[in-house]
Amino acid sequence: MKSASQFQLKQSNSFNVASITPCFYQPASYSDLRDLSSVIDRPFYILGEGSNTLFVESEAPVIIRPGFKGITIKETNDSYHVRVGAAENWHQLVIYCIEQGIYGLENLALIPGSVGAAPVQNIGAYGVEFADYCREVEWFEFSSQSVKKLSREECQFGYRDSVFKGALYNRGLIISVSLVFPKNWRAKLSYHGLDSLPAGASAVDVMKQVIAIRASKLPDPQVLPNAGSFFKNPIVSAEQYLSLKQDYQDMPFYPQADNSIKLAAGWLIERAGLKGFCQNGVEVHHRQALVLVNKACASGKDISVLAKHVQTCVLEKFGIKLQPEVRFIAARGEVELDEFEQ
Ligand SMILES: Cc1cc2nc3c(=O)[nH]c(=O)nc-3n(C[C@H](O)[C@H](O)[C@H](O)COP(=O)(O)OP(=O)(O)OC[C@H]3O[C@@H](n4cnc5c(N)ncnc54)[C@H](O)[C@@H]3O)c2cc1C
Repeated sequence: MKSASQFQLKQSNSFNVASITPCFYQPASYSDLRDLSSVIDRPFYILGEGSNTLFVESEAPVIIRPGFKGITIKETNDSYHVRVGAAENWHQLVIYCIEQGIYGLENLALIPGSVGAAPVQNIGAYGVEFADYCREVEWFEFSSQSVKKLSREECQFGYRDSVFKGALYNRGLIISVSLVFPKNWRAKLSYHGLDSLPAGASAVDVMKQVIAIRASKLPDPQVLPNAGSFFKNPIVSAEQYLSLKQDYQDMPFYPQADNSIKLAAGWLIERAGLKGFCQNGVEVHHRQALVLVNKACASGKDISVLAKHVQTCVLEKFGIKLQPEVRFIAARGEVELDEFEQ
């Protein structure tokens, strides 16, 4: 198995923060996976492309980065079945599928990261989420040293959530995903920004529009290191929403199937007066308040200090505690924002 010791992770996370792992392993075969049993008795973290990860200390735990590559396509009368290795890049997969005439992922274009991470938080954008096309996830279980195939139901997908963040957390790693795309594709244009496209828009039109909107709204991590939305959009009860609405008539809201209400975390941060706020080289982005950007080689700790400040200000103003979408990784493994020394 490919491995390295004392490996610098600065180029392996989209916040571009420095952190050194004692051991970096890249399993790319079933025999490599079995060899991991001697590795996982120490604190470890499974890393994809690091675009949803913040290393908060100068030392990181052992890193396991799955190296499984490859895309295979099977066609039936009414659908395409696509199996993709965890180490493939998500956006490249979207482009590849569309080039092959396989449509469905266009709304999820330009989301950074690996295919293997996509099920973990059930990535989503512009009215589509990973779960919509997931057939099964191939997962290696550390304890039994065996490969399991988890159906979409077994993955327990929710809003930025899945079984891989819950019951199966740290108990194995994703090797590949299998997706299914019905041939009777129809563009999903209901989301704001796509509703200006004509009803007959092609998948390429949709992808181009998604890319254009994202590029205009979100800072490019290659230019301004960031991890996209730092916090999840909070979901509150109808009562809490109605009480807030009395003070904030213009507050955006998105009713959910269970009568709860999703609010826009970016709006809450902006209205707490934090848009453009900068501290120790970290900025609440001046155009998109939901994104924290590393402007001046800040450390993971600097970024987490600003995140805590944002969380506190929003809690004080609205009584809502924002939950991070980004994963915080210390030398001892994953930690909560509240849990480590600021
Ligand atoms: C500019 C920008 C925009 C973004 N926009 C969106 C968006 O619109 N929608 C959205 O949902 N997200 C968005 N994100 C977040 C990010 O793109 C996703 O979370 C993506 O899935 C992360 O992929 P990664 O490979 O970089 O994951 P990492 O950050 O490396 O890991 C993320 C999590 O997945 C786990 N993981 C990774 N690979 C595996 C594996 N093979 N097996 C088991 N666990 C694994 C890690 O342990 C970790 O818990 C954005 C990020 C950026 C920087």
